[in-house]
Amino acid sequence: MSRVVYLTTPIYYINAAPHLGHACTTIFADAMARWRRLAGDDVFFLTGTDEHGDKIAQAAAKAGVTPRALADANSAAFREAWRQLGITNDDFIRTTEPRHAAVVQQILQTLYDAGEIYLGTYGGHYCYGCERFYTEKEIVEGACPDHRTPLAWIEEQNYFFRMSKYQEWLVGLIHERPDLIRPERYRNEILGFLRDPLHDLSISRPRTRLEWGIPLPFDDRYVTYVWFDALINYVSALGPLDGARHRKYWPHVEHLIGKDILKPHAVYWPCMLKAAGLEVFQRLNVHGYWGLGGGKMSKSVGNVVEALALKDTYGNDAFRYFVMREMVFGLDADFSEEAFVGRLNADLANDLGNLVSRATTMIVNFGGGRVPAAGVSAGSATADAWRKALADATAAMEEFAFHRALAAVWEFLGVVNRYIDTTAPWQLAKSPERRSELDAVLFTLAQALHGLGIVLAPFLPEAASKLRAALGQAGVPTLADAAWGRLAPGTTVAKLPALFPRVERATGATPSSNRPPTARGEHASPATTGQTPLVTMADFGKLDLRVAKVIAAERVPKSKRLLKVRVALGTEERTLVAGIAEHYAPEALVGRSVVIVANLEPATLMGIESQGMILAGSVEGTLAVLTPERDLPPGAKVT
Ligand SMILES: [Zn+2]
Repeated sequence: MSRVVYLTTPIYYINAAPHLGHACTTIFADAMARWRRLAGDDVFFLTGTDEHGDKIAQAAAKAGVTPRALADANSAAFREAWRQLGITNDDFIRTTEPRHAAVVQQILQTLYDAGEIYLGTYGGHYCYGCERFYTEKEIVEGACPDHRTPLAWIEEQNYFFRMSKYQEWLVGLIHERPDLIRPERYRNEILGFLRDPLHDLSISRPRTRLEWGIPLPFDDRYVTYVWFDALINYVSALGPLDGARHRKYWPHVEHLIGKDILKPHAVYWPCMLKAAGLEVFQRLNVHGYWGLGGGKMSKSVGNVVEALALKDTYGNDAFRYFVMREMVFGLDADFSEEAFVGRLNADLANDLGNLVSRATTMIVNFGGGRVPAAGVSAGSATADAWRKALADATAAMEEFAFHRALAAVWEFLGVVNRYIDTTAPWQLAKSPERRSELDAVLFTLAQALHGLGIVLAPFLPEAASKLRAALGQAGVPTLADAAWGRLAPGTTVAKLPALFPRVERATGATPSSNRPPTARGEHASPATTGQTPLVTMADFGKLDLRVAKVIAAERVPKSKRLLKVRVALGTEERTLVAGIAEHYAPEALVGRSVVIVANLEPATLMGIESQGMILAGSVEGTLAVLTPERDLPPGAKVT
């Protein structure tokens, strides 16, 4: 059954050049769009740029150009980046386009006429960087919690959207639709946020302060607040609200965002849609941040120019693969060239590239370059493994679990690689009487490659297309074509060596196999870890260790061992449950800097979700929490 799918990335704010975070979200969306098209769905894939607001006006003034000129140039940079990454968006919306402004004004007028918008006075702590007011509770030491810069006190008349009245409705909706916001940690985060009263949302800015925006249709002394303007892109890109495109796609909208913009999407946006009489989005799919790992890439790779340089060096497919395989969707991940090269060599060059090279070479050398007529493998273990991989990948993609979809395919690669080793076609080829056995093996390998050439297309479009060409396949495949046994006997097969050439390590880390064995025995002391296997730098790099500041701590009721600890982690706060109550009084921890594992899978202890782990050393009943030796800001990376 084919479906209608409307898939969006956020529209990217053009105050900065495209960076790795933008590229990552866009690659996820692109792979999903390609996957759904492969499944035969009717897909509309939207991306674009967000171009209004203080920051753009200020940047333009500084550069001595008009905001329009700046917007044109910076928006073009995003388009160019996506062109280079082979992104297959169906539309690209800009908030400075008349088609967008028309829909924003229409929705504003509707809300105003319905009494959902009122004029009020607002005084508050304002951050020019964030273009928003902060409540007393959100302010950290008098400064913006994001920018750490002092806030300005501003008092002005503004229009407000009656968002507060939707609080109860929104909580009900999130409970009613468990996958509205996913993965679940973000759903919980929003439910937590909604335990406090929801305020009305200021949706205007006086033109005396800011000209660069969409004028309110009912009062042209004001322009529209950027978030209210930007979110509506998802609707405006579909054209008029009563048009055919809107009716077709809007009921199927899936948003894909990074966690930094969770609140506007999970709180403002559903309330705005509800008030405007529009259906709430189907799902909000949220991914984590990319940290920039240790090593020399750390300062440069944040810029997509550097990410694109990686693409130029190692290929677009390798870049896409790394982003989707390395990041557990929803959690933070670390980007380092070393981990990148590790994945490229292990997964792409070894597992996939070698398999393709071996299998095509054997079909050419032992099978005369044609798929043999040996349709005997439909019930084989390899065929079963393929069906499982296909089913697992399909299920994972339903949940936007890109890493799991790829892991499922790679499990199959392992099965096929072992199959070659156990059947040893090069031995079979030596005995003419074993011809039918050899043909059965070559047939199986050809079918495996054929399936891979289709299923990998959304993730590794260039490699998949080379693979399909080597198997004599042209045209646009569908997921149904990936079923086992679809590659016809007699089809011509060409050798495909070096689909992903191995690369030498970019950084100086020693591969673990070259290290001398760990000393054991006479040097062993209680502190050594002689029995622990060595890990590679890439493995170590998967741990996201951060400095965090304890802002509150209390005993977990009915537990002797556990403390519930609230920590600040730069841009966010976390709750952790730590087994240190027998060693630390809660009040002794508050204000202290600690080191936490920030990307540990959350675990629930005594009914409390622990979002990370505090590091501590211990020996025979003495326990000490690790503390940085000098003052480091919360969120600082530990490597
Ligand atoms: Zn700020």
